Amino acid sequence: MKDTTFFKDKKILIVGLAKSGFAGAKLLHSFGAHLTVNDKSPREGNVEAEKLEKLGIEVVCGDHPLTLLDSQLDFIVKNPGIPYQNPLIDEAVKRNIPIYTEVEIAGMISDASIIAITGSNGKTTTTTLVGDMLKNSDKTPIVAGNIGTVFSEVAAESTEKDILVAELSSFQLMGTERFKPQIAVFLNLFEAHLDYHGSLDEYGKAKAKITENQDCSDYIIYNADDERVSYLMKSSKAKHIPFSVKEKYEGGVYVEDGALHFQDQKVIDLSEIVLPGKHNLSNIMAAVAASLLAGATLEQIRQVLTSFPGVKHRLQYVGELNGRRFYNDSKATNILATNAALSAFEQPVILLAGGLDRGNSFDDLLPSLKNVKAIVTFGQTADKLAETAKQAGIETIKRADNVEDAVPLAYRLSSEDDVILLSPACASWDQYKTFEQRGDMFINSVHKLK
Ligand code: ADP
Repeated sequence: MKDTTFFKDKKILIVGLAKSGFAGAKLLHSFGAHLTVNDKSPREGNVEAEKLEKLGIEVVCGDHPLTLLDSQLDFIVKNPGIPYQNPLIDEAVKRNIPIYTEVEIAGMISDASIIAITGSNGKTTTTTLVGDMLKNSDKTPIVAGNIGTVFSEVAAESTEKDILVAELSSFQLMGTERFKPQIAVFLNLFEAHLDYHGSLDEYGKAKAKITENQDCSDYIIYNADDERVSYLMKSSKAKHIPFSVKEKYEGGVYVEDGALHFQDQKVIDLSEIVLPGKHNLSNIMAAVAASLLAGATLEQIRQVLTSFPGVKHRLQYVGELNGRRFYNDSKATNILATNAALSAFEQPVILLAGGLDRGNSFDDLLPSLKNVKAIVTFGQTADKLAETAKQAGIETIKRADNVEDAVPLAYRLSSEDDVILLSPACASWDQYKTFEQRGDMFINSVHKLK
């Protein structure tokens, strides 16, 4: 860990006592900072608050009183989920108190080099790929951030032999000032989280902070097919590594003669890649560039790409039975994601869809239903989806009670070379606690068929 004397005797307010707030508090306390931790939830029964108090840290629960700002704070560490419209944060901005997320702390204390990955979609997939591709290289990859571990916690434990691979949201990046990853990846920019950021412009700027402090010794790997991303990257001082599924950019990642290339080197034939979908090819290109620049071997990269079945619940390949291939895309909780999943297949698809009714129509699904030969619907939106399927001209439309019943029904409707895909286009909460539980039900039901 780098020298932490910077934090000694600093007056710091931590807002939000979730997993990262708790870990951050323990860490900053160990560096000798003077902390106050604030959380809106009640003190009663709050185990984390109790643990921090036992360490001698002041914890204020139940409210966000503005008086917390009166004590000459050096800075605030804010949970990324807390919006800037929060009255306490709003007031802190007015008083010019710096507001960071734990990403800033992680960047300051890490001895390991950092690969930071952002974008509206595909972060988890790309981050997981990079982590796998760097196995068996000179460095030990540690996957940090949204998936699994708290970034600042693993940064504190990291050594020069490690490499931190971090998935970062716009919320996390917004609270950074000095953050300077050696390799940054910017996947894409869709309209999302506009309630938090106010406008697409602000959202894009928050994400672009990933490269703001980079210099010519660093790399920025970015999606040249995405106009907004390319525009934002123009001002980056890092070495530019564009990737594109459409064109060949010198020095970047591209497709030539049916194979994926990085700079002048052939990496793998596309036919050997297991992960389906053009959107995933973009993710793969970014991951290949990041891991090669960080010292991965071509052999390990090929090994990953010929076997990686997708991250669980994200267009995850589950298996094959009598020529039918099963995919679990339970994370597809909206129409956009189901459209991406459907566009990944050329063979006939039997779609399993339905779930929580948010009052929206499914008209936007119509164009991508052209490959769907049958649909099995379930949950609150079963009838609505059946109606959309009828409009799309799908002949076989069936209804099931749930995912468990939908799987054997879909199998009975299928023939050899069909894809059986769970991509619900809806949240799971009408029937399942989480999208993970729904996906697990799908996987279990597929295994039961065997
Ligand atoms: P994130 O971590 O950014 O949410 P995930 O890898 O978990 O991304 O994927 C979330 C959803 O977005 C999945 O349904 C997946 O199929 C879809 N997706 C993944 N990568 C992309 C991409 N590059 N473009 C569009 N959609 C994508």
